[in-house]
Formats: sequence, structure tokens, C-alpha cells
Amino acid sequence: MRVYNFSAGPSMLPLPVLEKVQKQLINYEGCGMSVMEMSHRGKQYMEINAAAEERLRKLMNIPDSYAVLFLQGGASLQFAAIPLNLAATHKKTDYIITGNFAKKAFQEAALYTDAFAAASSADKNFTYIPQIDAKTFRKDIDYAHICYNNTIFGTRYDKTPNVGKVALVADVSSCILSQNFNVTDFACLYAGAQKNVGPAGTTIVIVRRDLINNPMSICPNVMRYKTQDENDSLYNTPPCFTTYVASEVFAYVESLGGISAVEKINVRKASKLYDFIDNSAFYANNVEKPYRSIMNVPFVTPSKELDEKFVKEAAANGLVSLKGHRLVGGMRASIYNAMPEEGVDALIAFMKKFESDNA
Ligand SMILES: *Cc1c(COP(=O)(O)O)cnc(C)c1O
Repeated sequence: MRVYNFSAGPSMLPLPVLEKVQKQLINYEGCGMSVMEMSHRGKQYMEINAAAEERLRKLMNIPDSYAVLFLQGGASLQFAAIPLNLAATHKKTDYIITGNFAKKAFQEAALYTDAFAAASSADKNFTYIPQIDAKTFRKDIDYAHICYNNTIFGTRYDKTPNVGKVALVADVSSCILSQNFNVTDFACLYAGAQKNVGPAGTTIVIVRRDLINNPMSICPNVMRYKTQDENDSLYNTPPCFTTYVASEVFAYVESLGGISAVEKINVRKASKLYDFIDNSAFYANNVEKPYRSIMNVPFVTPSKELDEKFVKEAAANGLVSLKGHRLVGGMRASIYNAMPEEGVDALIAFMKKFESDNA
């Protein structure tokens, strides 16, 4: 039996995609081998790689003036690749600190640039998103960096901030494909695959092509966006299998009606859960309402003991990985695209029962 898996990542994949991958696993489209075994220089994989890019471009409406890269190393490697590629001119970067990943990105940029925390929500334990605009930033920065959805703290930007002419870079690891983005509002968007896109191993980078011609001289070749773009992400061996699965997820999202259709479902799923929490005297979520994430929903019961009991009993009922991040405690329900609405309904039903048993 498959469980409802509320893990923050790696997380659930759509069952129809898993079934298709299973069907194709040992003999991909009659070629006599699996995608895991084929050369990344062969015709089959080149087609998979091209289809992945084409599907993502269509889904997210990405113009040709942006490169779309499928790389290794996770979002964490991009924390370094971004300053190394995009900050050679002034070596000066501004970061908005809205949680743990934003802070890690900032600390990594500080290794290579004059990095500055231009705003932060640490004063209220990252339960909101600071208001920012063009005036938030220093003069002559190469870019400003935000983390759009804060996976650990359950916050997100309610809209893309208007930063004027400042080049905006966004970590969208836990919200890519969950809501519409206007790609041209950004200089660069990047995301590890393992939340909304596919298995861990592929990292997506969407970056304005006019910005990638001037990496720092110390930037490793394999991390150079220009090099990877010129080689269609095949400069070195790419994460073949995970990119293939990601591409199947792209096709699946398209079949559901694209990102707008999926976003509607996501908003409905999240609203149900928040409404239930807000109407209960037993559960609480303390994120300021406009900034509540539609992907990651942290919540607590009245005590740590009950939190622990909740996580244990939920798992016994097929609702797994609900333990909150160690920085926040309590519970966290990650309800990414692949979490069916029935999973959220099952969680709410369990929460009701747990409340009546323990209140
Ligand atoms: C998970 C996550 C990361 C880290 O991704 P890795 O692939 O483990 O490097 C970075 N940023 C955000 C917003 C995340 O959710």
C-alpha cells in the first residue's frame, strides 16, 4: 500500500509517472536498455534531454533569451554557482534572509563577494516576509537574492517583489511548478528537483543568457552556466535518469492543464488545511497570513509531548513524515503538487480525531 508522504523532500511523485517509469524501466521505448544504462551522447538520451527542456520551456513560458540547464549538485551547489557566474562585475551581492536556506545561500555568496543581508525576518523567527523594493538594495550590486518559498518555516512571497532594474535571483526549490512565475521578472531561477519536479539529483537553472558571459575566473568549468548552455547541459555526464523522470513529470503537469490548473488545486489544498487549523483551538500555525506557503504547512498541538504522539500515530495511519524541521519543531505537512487532495483530506480527518482523543 502507498502511504500519504508529507516529506519536505525528497517527496511524493505522481503515481501515473512512477507507473510509466516502471513500465519503461528495463526497456526504454524498445531500445533494449533502461535510461540509467544509456550513453548521454546517444540519440535516445539526447532526445530525452531536448524534450525535458522543451517541456519545461512550454510549461513555464521561458523565452529563448533564457538558458534552461539541468545540472548536478542540488540547490546548495547553486548557492556558490550564482555568485561565481553572475557577480564578477562588482563582486557585490544583496540577500534577503527569510530562513535557513536563504542564510546558507548568503553565507556561500560571502565566500566570493561582498555579500550583504539587505533585509531579514529573523526578528520574528522567520514567520513573515519583509517588504522589499528597489530602495532596499545597495548601489552597484550584481544581483539581489531571495528564497521564494521557505520550506522549513512555511512562508512564501505573496507576490514577486518589484525591485526595479535590480537583477533578481530566486531559489524556487520548493515552489517551482506549483504556481505561475513570470520568468522575465527574474535574472535567474533555480531549484533542486526533489520537491516538486522529480527524484533528487537534477537541479534546474533558468538564467538570462546575457548575464552568463562573464563568470569569475575562479569559477570551475563544470559550474559555468555559459559552458553548460553551450553544451545543452551535457558538458559532463548529466543526471540522466532523474532528468528523464523530471521530464515525465513535466508532461504530466501539462496533461493536467499546466501550472495554472495545478496552482488552483494547490491553493485549494492549502486553504483547506489552514482553515481547519485556524478554526481549531487545538492546532496552531503562527505564520502571518499573507505569507503562508501553499507547499509547506507547519503546525503545532498544545504541547511537545502531543506533537510527538501526533507524528507517531499519524504514521501508523499511513500519514508519514509529518515531523517538523528541527529548527521549528512540531509538525510540517509538505503538500507539493504530487500530494493528492485526498491526502490532505485524510490528514484533516486524522487531525480531527486526534484532537477529540487528546484535547
Ligand atoms: C531543499 C532546499 C534547498 C536545498 O536543496 P539541495 O538540493 O539539498 O541542495 C535549498 N533551497 C530550498 C528553498 C530548499 O527547499
